[in-house]
Amino acid sequence: MTDITRIAIPNKGRLSDPSVDLLRKAGLVFETSSRALSVPARNMPVEVLFVRADDIPELVHDNVAQFGITGLDLVAEAGVETEVVLELGFGRCRLTAAVEESSLITSIEDFEGLRVATSHPVTVCDFFTGKGIEVTTVALKGSVEVAPKLDIADAIVDLVSSGSTMMINGLRPVATVLESQAALISRPDADPSPLTTMVRAVVAAKRKRYVMMNAPKDSIGAIERIIPGAEAPTIVPLTHDAMYSVASVVDADDMWKVLPQLEEAGASAILVLPIEQMIP
Ligand code: AMP
Repeated sequence: MTDITRIAIPNKGRLSDPSVDLLRKAGLVFETSSRALSVPARNMPVEVLFVRADDIPELVHDNVAQFGITGLDLVAEAGVETEVVLELGFGRCRLTAAVEESSLITSIEDFEGLRVATSHPVTVCDFFTGKGIEVTTVALKGSVEVAPKLDIADAIVDLVSSGSTMMINGLRPVATVLESQAALISRPDADPSPLTTMVRAVVAAKRKRYVMMNAPKDSIGAIERIIPGAEAPTIVPLTHDAMYSVASVVDADDMWKVLPQLEEAGASAILVLPIEQMIP
């Protein structure tokens, strides 16, 4: 019998859909409609386990699942040893220490002796202990940002992405406690798996574009300088008029400056294509 690899992903919340999306792009075919705890992939010896995002570090640590996708903040908070195989570039947020707008506090050192409400008490405790600052943590599961108004805390440490929720609640950020994003995690001693290679290939491809164009022979030198590609652009002669077909991989973020330069250099019929998977 083939060994089944299990990967645990969030069953709800903001990391759930992007995790399903990532596994599908990596080539796994599986159902999500049955609301089952676990579903087998149809095309690989992989089982997808749908669980709470905050349980995933523990499940991976205990080898219930060999891999997991969850937030780095939740990995820190779980306090169990796991390995971050790959940062995934979604679910970006920060654990931010904040006080009420009217507060006189301006630096993290001023938190000495305060009651700090947070959904991440372990991380907060480690952070302040590491700085030699004594605080009392007030652990809350949700609505952390209203704690100062209710006078159950003097300050908060909560997850923010844009910061607008804090502003709406009259809170002022003082310091960043932790930067987070979604990550693929495993046990520290996990064997390599094709699943890791596939996920890595999707993440690598996401910010890249495949650019193809036609160009006359005279333009090739200039085009090579604009798009050096992973190694060098592929240059294939066309059958007529000393024209060439040129193709290369370009950072998606650079497209805005690369396209006008290519046109200027004499390229035509420029095509920009998404890349599904890439192993550099
Ligand atoms: P949820 O289940 O939707 O509460 O999401 C939980 C995880 O999503 C958090 O532990 C973070 O890793 C991540 N996340 C990303 N952005 C935010 C945000 N603005 N607020 C809360 N969680 C966020």
